[in-house]
Amino acid sequence: MAKIDLTIPSLGNKFIDLRDILPGDAYNFSWERQLSQVNYLAIHHTGGADSQTPQDLANEHMTKNGWGGIGYHFLIDKDGFVYYVGDISTARANVANLNEQVIGIGLIGNFVAFQVPTEQQLVATHLLCEFLLNYPDLVNVRSWDKVRGHKELPDQLTPCPGDDWSNWRIKIVEGGSDLAKLTDEDDFQIADLKTQISNLQTSLASVNQQAISLRLNLQDREQEINELKKAADKSLPYALPLKKVDESLTIVQALINLYKFVLPPRKE
Ligand SMILES: [Zn+2]
Repeated sequence: MAKIDLTIPSLGNKFIDLRDILPGDAYNFSWERQLSQVNYLAIHHTGGADSQTPQDLANEHMTKNGWGGIGYHFLIDKDGFVYYVGDISTARANVANLNEQVIGIGLIGNFVAFQVPTEQQLVATHLLCEFLLNYPDLVNVRSWDKVRGHKELPDQLTPCPGDDWSNWRIKIVEGGSDLAKLTDEDDFQIADLKTQISNLQTSLASVNQQAISLRLNLQDREQEINELKKAADKSLPYALPLKKVDESLTIVQALINLYKFVLPPRKE
């Protein structure tokens, strides 16, 4: 297992590491790779509601897709918070047949029908890409032409990241007019709250999981008890079930009555 910790000074408090918090495997799923294998920074939209959280996406990828962890490396929400969700030393699951070659960056929201990311999302995406394009070990992603929309990568059948991608791509490359807009003094508190929310959602999911496994356990025990009862009936003929004992007693009683009838009581 490789673990590559990142500090991105330009993002400040807007960079939140959720690798240890999100459910699923952030450090091994799907497999380990060399950073020199990375050829593209792949930009996605998550294709869901604006309110989707990294937790929602991790759960969806695990329960619906049956994956061992979230498919992306990074997620960026509407407020321009960047979440580190899958270690960059792993090939994850966000493009068909090219996963070892990409760092998958998911912008939360659905950008089909010409919807576009928020200004803060675009600035944050610029800063994250700028950091990765300058990250020494990523030797094969050194220029902005390596930042590609999911649908621009070879053999991908998808509208992702949306219809207007070629227009908002320019903003990602140029970085937006007002970088200062991205950060303000409330960010530290908001970052803290966002981390707490992720933690609570994870706890809730784990409580739910425990409840499910307890229920399954209970069902197993019931089954075992039923099987034991059946086995007892078969292998221990003397331990007759009550119903059979009742039947036998009734027969004995009937015989006694018959005996009394056939042989009237002796006279004294
Ligand atoms: Zn995509």
